[in-house]
Amino acid sequence: MRSRADFVAATVRPEIRELSAYAVARAAGMIKLDAMENPFALPQEIRSKVAAVVADVAVNRYPDGAAEALKRSLRSALGIEDSWGLVVGNGSDELIQIIVSALARPGATLLAPEPSFVMYKLCALIAGMRYVGVPLTPDFVLDMEAMRAAIERERPALVFLAYPNNPTGNLWADAHVEEIVRSAPGLVVVDEAYHAFADRTFVSRLGDLPNLVVLRTLSKLGMAGLRLGYAIAAPEWTTELDKLRPPYNVNVLTQAVAPVLLAQKSLYADQVARIKAERSRLCAALTSMPGVVAFGSETNFVLARVPDAPRWFARLKEARILVKNMHGSHPLLENCLRMTVGTPTEMDALIAALEAIR
Ligand code: PMP
Repeated sequence: MRSRADFVAATVRPEIRELSAYAVARAAGMIKLDAMENPFALPQEIRSKVAAVVADVAVNRYPDGAAEALKRSLRSALGIEDSWGLVVGNGSDELIQIIVSALARPGATLLAPEPSFVMYKLCALIAGMRYVGVPLTPDFVLDMEAMRAAIERERPALVFLAYPNNPTGNLWADAHVEEIVRSAPGLVVVDEAYHAFADRTFVSRLGDLPNLVVLRTLSKLGMAGLRLGYAIAAPEWTTELDKLRPPYNVNVLTQAVAPVLLAQKSLYADQVARIKAERSRLCAALTSMPGVVAFGSETNFVLARVPDAPRWFARLKEARILVKNMHGSHPLLENCLRMTVGTPTEMDALIAALEAIR
C-alpha cells in the first residue's frame, strides 16, 4: 500500500513541497516590534462603539459579498473618487495573490526590485509565474539602469513596487516609478501599504497611467487584526480582479467594525504623528550608536545595519524585545535588523536594550 508521503509526493507540486510555511515568530510576553503593527490600544469609548456594532452582527449569515457599505465607508474616509473601482481583500496579502493569479499566464513573468515584500515572490511561485528580482543599489535606491534592462529583457506581465518599500523603509523617486509604469508592457502595482506614514501616493496618477493599480491596507494604520486590504484602480481592472475574489472573503465582523474605526480620523492622525515622532527619536538614537547605520524611513519601521545582527537580535530577545532579523534574507541586508516603531515606552526599552549591547 502506498503511504501518505507517497501520495503527497505524487500529487503536491514539487515547488510547493520545497517551501516552508510563512513563519510567524512567537511574541507572547514580549515587546512586539517585528510586524509593523500600530502599538496603541483602542481608547475605551471606541471599544464600546465597536462592542455595540459587533453585538448587532448576524454571524449566522454570510457577509455582504459585494461589501457595499464597507466600500462606501472606505471611499468617504479615504477620499476615493466614485470613478475608481475598489476590490477588497482579506488583507492586501490576498489581493496580491488575486492579482498574481489573474495575470499568471503560462510563461508570464513577475518582476520586482529586491529586497522587497516577500509575498510577491511567494505568490509568483504559488501561481506558477516566473519571478525576476532586480537588486536595489546598496543604499536601497532603484537601480534604474538594471530595471530598464530587465523590463526590456523580461517583458514582465506584472511589476510590484512597494512604495514605500518593505523592508528598506524608503520611497522610490516618483519619476522612477512613473518611468517604470510607462515602460512596462503589463500591469504595475504600486503597493502603498505604508501610505499613512509617507504623505505621497500614486492614486492621483490613476487617470493618466492606464496600467496602474494601487494597493493599500488598513493593517499598518491600526487594524491589522481586521485583515482588510483594498485595491484602487480603473473599473476595467477591478471588474476582472473581482472575479477572482472569494465571494465572502471579508467577514461580517470586519465589515461591521472597519467603518466605525475608519470614522476615527483624528485618532489615527494623532497616532500616525506620534509614531513618526518616535521614528525620528529611534533613528537619532541608532545613528548615535557606534557602528550602527539607520536607513531613512517613510514608514512605521526603521531598518538599521548593526555590527552583528544575529547577536544583536538574540540580545534583544533576551531583553524580551522581538524585532525582525533580516540578516541572511538577501545579500543587501547583511547585518540588518528591522524594528517597528512602537509606543514611547517601548522605544525607551528598545533604545536602552540596544545601547546595552556591547
Ligand atoms: N504590502 C507590503 C509592502 C507589506 O509590507 C505588507 C505587510 N507586511 C503587506 C502588503 C500585507 O499587508 P496585509 O496583508 O496585512 O494587508
